[in-house]
Amino acid sequence: MYKNFPDFELLERLTAVPGVPGREEPTAEIIRSSLPSKISECSVDRLGNLVVHIPGKGKRVMLAAHMDEVGLIVQRILPSGFLKIERLGGTSLRAMPGSRLSLWTSNGRISAQVVVPPQHLDNNEPLKLTDIFIDVGASSIEETTTMGISVGDVLTWDSPLRSFGEFFVSGKALDDRLGCFILIQLAKQIKPQDLKYDLYLTFTVQEESMLMGGVTAARAIKPDIIIGIDGTFAFDTPDLEGNQCDLRLGNGPALKWMDAIRGKLASFVPNHKLAIKVREIALKENIPLQDEVVTGMSTAVTPLQYTAEGAAALALSVPLRYHHTPIETADVRDVENIILLLKAILMNDL
Ligand SMILES: [Zn+2]
Repeated sequence: MYKNFPDFELLERLTAVPGVPGREEPTAEIIRSSLPSKISECSVDRLGNLVVHIPGKGKRVMLAAHMDEVGLIVQRILPSGFLKIERLGGTSLRAMPGSRLSLWTSNGRISAQVVVPPQHLDNNEPLKLTDIFIDVGASSIEETTTMGISVGDVLTWDSPLRSFGEFFVSGKALDDRLGCFILIQLAKQIKPQDLKYDLYLTFTVQEESMLMGGVTAARAIKPDIIIGIDGTFAFDTPDLEGNQCDLRLGNGPALKWMDAIRGKLASFVPNHKLAIKVREIALKENIPLQDEVVTGMSTAVTPLQYTAEGAAALALSVPLRYHHTPIETADVRDVENIILLLKAILMNDL
């Protein structure tokens, strides 16, 4: 494993906890307990956004990363004891058959798995959500009741973080616990006396369901500048090479020039002057930076600028392979470089 990576064990704990939209408390708890003792201002708003304030002079800067991850919710318990589910966020259907899950009940965690036809009987028809059922090892509704399973319980991938190759980490929920991890590293590394800004590190809720969760935090903070930190697509696997832009793992964080989910009224463009300035800072500091223009996604930063009275907004991304699957994969050098870039940004005039 790459020797410069600051804290694999923290990222392991951050990605292990469940945190589907609306149930982010376990993630918030780990973040709170990982903050350095010098942090004195840490609060949670009524929606669940965790806000860490590092007071300083100058403009208010809000850095935002979302705590929630995609998952599943139990919709119906069948007489046979199998569960019918609905998706919470854009969970990959293709990655589901044959995968291992954790079911989170009021009694705690239960091991679960997704049904998959024996290869011999597979008709190779396209997969639909109605083909997906969850096996919890029960044979009747009565058994599921005894196990404490209810409609409304949620499931997450059972896919612990692992490192592989020299630079890669892979597992569930790197989108966007990596962003949370990056903000925690900033809280540890920043010296308030070097700051040119009044800084708010914001760990937001409910991005995967409708992008909007951070809005209540932005309304309270009233930032002048907002920087979102989240995952984006990498197009460096043989199936996606040349598909949209040239984002690759290991070539640095990405500066987002545009994203959009067509037909969903979700699209982001940054404040142009701020984006140009950040590109200059990266160049001056010799930090690799890739250019991102993607469709098929948007992130939590999209609604924030409208809430915060037109604050200048920017989005920096960590390229990820296999988004919204149990094997989301990142290059730790990109994580290291985004931390360096954010520190440089906070010490420059924007
Ligand atoms: Zn995300």
